Amino acid sequence: MQLLDGRKIADELLETLKNEVIELQDKQIYPKLAVILVGDNPASLSYIKQKRKACEKTGIRWEQINYDESITTKELISKIEELNKDKTIHGILVQLPLPQDIYAPEIIKAIDPKKDVDGFTAYNIGKMFLSTEFEHLPPCTPAGVIKMLDYYNINIEGLEATVVGASNIVGKPLSVMLLNRGATVTTCHIKTKDLKAHTLNADLICVAVGKRNLITEDMVKDNVILVDIGVNRKEDGKLCGDADFETISKKASYITPVPGGVGPMTVACLMENTVNAAGRANA
Ligand code: NAD
Repeated sequence: MQLLDGRKIADELLETLKNEVIELQDKQIYPKLAVILVGDNPASLSYIKQKRKACEKTGIRWEQINYDESITTKELISKIEELNKDKTIHGILVQLPLPQDIYAPEIIKAIDPKKDVDGFTAYNIGKMFLSTEFEHLPPCTPAGVIKMLDYYNINIEGLEATVVGASNIVGKPLSVMLLNRGATVTTCHIKTKDLKAHTLNADLICVAVGKRNLITEDMVKDNVILVDIGVNRKEDGKLCGDADFETISKKASYITPVPGGVGPMTVACLMENTVNAAGRANA
């Protein structure tokens, strides 16, 4: 069994990006990410801390805009429009989840697709849908998964891939990215009747649900490649994924740890998108 070491790949990517930032600075381009945080959700604060740290490592400039939960959709959109026009800002990220009264799709729609470094706007999702050649600002978590498989020379073409979870930010775009690389993809979700039948058939399982022990050893075949995107907390406060790592790691050919797997890749791909957006801004 080989661990898919996301932390290592992410660190290498951040090092490469650091050099790209220096090259851009030589051309008087100073990549900068603006992050909007509404409220003080502890998970959001922790994600923002990781993103800020990655910016510091790569030399990407950081601007954080904090709002109270009472902010209105109109006020938030007006700030995004201001950031859209600001030539010193190359990436705009609105940390999700947003408070219930704010309709997230409307907020995301306001972001200039050229600065949409999360890859969530319909424009960037649509381009990614067409083919790998149009993945200019892909959603960061699926992009991180693909990068990780590529790093270990895992050939996606021809694999039976089962993606468990069908959200707009992880499961659905990951299914499309795998399909565009020649996998035969099954996407499972809460309404799937027989999850085990689909996971047992899979050479590659990517799980992004948010339910501890959803995937157990009896649900996977020998030599499976298992990418665990889920993030859950155990009783002792430690993080774990959606799959039973202890038992599945004995059966798998490749498996991601949680933490240290997909999480760092997501952050590194956000940095990559920001550097790429900055590089293209004046092109
Ligand atoms: P979401 O809640 O938007 O979507 C969950 C998906 O799981 C839905 O499509 C739902 O139908 C499906 N689902 C729910 N119960 C199921 C079941 N019993 N069987 C099969 N499918 C089921 O979540 P999301 O934003 O896609 O995130 C999913 C998980 O991935 C969460 O744990 C989240 O914290 C984690 N996540 C991790 C990263 C990372 O970088 N590591 C990034 C994003 C999300």
